[in-house]
Amino acid sequence: MDEFPDIQNFGDFWGKSVFHCPYCHAWEVCDEPLAVVGNGETGIEMVSLLKNWSADLVLCTNGTNEKIARHGILIRPKQTLRSNLAEKLGCELNEFNLIKTTNVFNETSVKGVYAAGDITSPMQAIAAAVFQGSAAASGLNHALIMEDFV
Ligand SMILES: Cc1cc2nc3c(=O)[nH]c(=O)nc-3n(C[C@H](O)[C@H](O)[C@H](O)COP(=O)(O)OP(=O)(O)OC[C@H]3O[C@@H](n4cnc5c(N)ncnc54)[C@H](O)[C@@H]3O)c2cc1C
Repeated sequence: MDEFPDIQNFGDFWGKSVFHCPYCHAWEVCDEPLAVVGNGETGIEMVSLLKNWSADLVLCTNGTNEKIARHGILIRPKQTLRSNLAEKLGCELNEFNLIKTTNVFNETSVKGVYAAGDITSPMQAIAAAVFQGSAAASGLNHALIMEDFV
C-alpha cells in the first residue's frame, strides 16, 4: 500500500502527473519540466534516473513554500503491507519489509503459503505480478498433486 505524503491534493494527481515509476509514466512527460520530490540518497537516485527523460529537473526537498510550474512529479511513497495476514501466518519479511519468498514457486517461509506481486518486492510491475502469480499457482498445484501421489 502506498502511503501518501502530507501534501495538499496529492491524491488528485496520483498516477496522472504525479508518479512513482519513470518506466511506467515518464515517456508521457519526456523533455517536459519535471520535479522530483525526495530527500537524501533516494532524492539523488530519482534525479539521476529521471534525467534520462528530461534535463529540466528540480529536486524538491519540502524546504520552502515556493511555487514552481512543472508538468510532472516523481515521488517514491513509503509502502506498507495493507493486511496483517502474512504476519498472522508467521511469514518472514524481507529487507524491504515485504513478504519474503524462498523458492521459484514464490512460497513464503511458511510451507504451503505463497505470495506474489507488490507484496513481495519493490520492483513492482504488472508483468512481474503476473509472472509471480503464475509461478505461485504452479507451486501450489504441484504441492497438491504430490500430496495425493505419496
Ligand atoms: C499509479 C500507478 C501506476 C502504475 N503504472 C504501471 C504501469 O504503467 N505498468 C506496470 O507494469 N505497472 C504499473 N504499476 C504497478 C502495478 O499496478 C502493480 O505492480 C500491480 O498492479 C501489482 O499487482 P498485485 O496483484 O500484486 O497488486 P494489486 O494490483 O494492488 O492487487 C491487490 C488487490 O488486493 C486487494 N486487497 C488488498 N488487501 C486486501 C484484503 N485485506 N482483503 C481483500 N482484498 C485485499 C486490493 O484491493 C487489490 O485489488 C502502477 C502502480 C501505480 C500505483
